[in-house]
Amino acid sequence: MRVLIYWFRNDLRLVDNPAISRACLDADFILPVYLHEPDGELNAYGFERVGPHRKLFLKESLADLRTQLRALDSDLFEFHGHATAVFPQLMKAIGASAIYCEQIETPEEMMQVSELLGMGVELKQFWQSSMLDLKDLPFDPQTMPNVFTQFRQKIEGAGVRFTGPIAAPKYLPPPPDGVDVPPMGEMEIQHSQSPYLGGSSRAQSHLQQYLERRLPDTYKETRNHLTGQDYSSKFSFWLSLGCISARDIAAQINQYEERHGANDGTYWLWFELLWRDYFRFIHFKFGRQLYRARGLSNLPTPSLDVGQFEGWKSGSTGNAFVDAGMHELQSTGYLSNRMRQIVASYWIYDMQGDWRIGAAWFENQLADFDIYSNQGNWLYIAGRGTDPRGGRQFNVAKQAQDHDPQGEYRRLWNKPN
Ligand SMILES: Cc1cc2nc3c(=O)[nH]c(=O)nc-3n(C[C@H](O)[C@H](O)[C@H](O)COP(=O)(O)OP(=O)(O)OC[C@H]3O[C@@H](n4cnc5c(N)ncnc54)[C@H](O)[C@@H]3O)c2cc1C
Repeated sequence: MRVLIYWFRNDLRLVDNPAISRACLDADFILPVYLHEPDGELNAYGFERVGPHRKLFLKESLADLRTQLRALDSDLFEFHGHATAVFPQLMKAIGASAIYCEQIETPEEMMQVSELLGMGVELKQFWQSSMLDLKDLPFDPQTMPNVFTQFRQKIEGAGVRFTGPIAAPKYLPPPPDGVDVPPMGEMEIQHSQSPYLGGSSRAQSHLQQYLERRLPDTYKETRNHLTGQDYSSKFSFWLSLGCISARDIAAQINQYEERHGANDGTYWLWFELLWRDYFRFIHFKFGRQLYRARGLSNLPTPSLDVGQFEGWKSGSTGNAFVDAGMHELQSTGYLSNRMRQIVASYWIYDMQGDWRIGAAWFENQLADFDIYSNQGNWLYIAGRGTDPRGGRQFNVAKQAQDHDPQGEYRRLWNKPN
């Protein structure tokens, strides 16, 4: 009788989850586990890594996952603590021989795994968070082109668009008896004003309505707008926790193209999802170097003086456009790509702030925080990533003129309380 633990990480779904599908084939009993980081841990800058928007989205997503697991006569078991403190004990208690989980190629997550391996835990990882599988790439990621355009051209030249998703398992081996660490029980879901609720069911219905309303057709023209719901896809909310896979989205966009025809909008959605893949794959090549203060550059290490950080983060810099962005971020846990670029550039270049604190604040604030994309984009703007053009300083006054000529966005988010 083989007992396995399935460790859900940023893959809170059953559809197109090769790791759990494999576990179903290999096990007689599976204990599905989600591990929460210990409460109250602060980052190097003195604030929590996970802020209220992401906490809520995670809660909703876990509740949805639990419902799906229960429909298959299984359940979700949640624990708090460090992996090395929880798993070895748990495995012993239930007689588990191994842990299966998704592979995350970022330093802290890799460290969690190597510590477990170092303790003699058998652990099997599966790479499954990109639109293109590693085996479908026309190059080894360790030798991939550094520049995005060259990366994209090679992918397009090889004629690969996405890797096909797989269905959810129809059957899940039951949880073993004797789980002496009790499940945390039902979570109380707070009321939220956000139209974007966590969970893979919501991810699928959001994608459905996005396609039914033919929004891909206008995506390329609207993607730099700042107000309203429909100017961009908002897929990032669900992609960040893996409530839906990028392969599933790409496959459904592909079906849409077969039905309605391909256009600039459908291509551009794929193009942006490819950026997401790119920021993942560069981790195979550069690894920890992406987490150095100087990144891949030879630029001086920015000073860690948190000086004006309070003004930037609370949206009281005095620049109405930037302040509006920071207010939107704080209120909703979301910011358009354009505004992310503008507030990041303002922090790095106009305020001479340390890009690492900016990135850490986004980690706290964004409901759709994704370590690969956040790190990659901050490095890109700071001129410390792979971009040969160096940093991207935005002229904020010009951006306001181009993207908010009537001041609608500024009025919306700079309302007096
Ligand atoms: C400083 C900065 C920090 C960022 N931090 C994050 C983050 O933590 N999490 C995150 O998901 N995205 C991040 N992005 C990328 C991008 O802003 C968001 O993915 C996008 O705004 C999400 O909204 P959407 O789903 O409506 O995007 P759409 O415009 O509809 O794009 C579709 C999908 O393509 C991908 N995508 C789009 N733009 C990018 C990009 N520039 N880089 C990587 N993938 C992209 C996303 O998965 C997105 O869901 C960051 C960008 C910047 C400039």
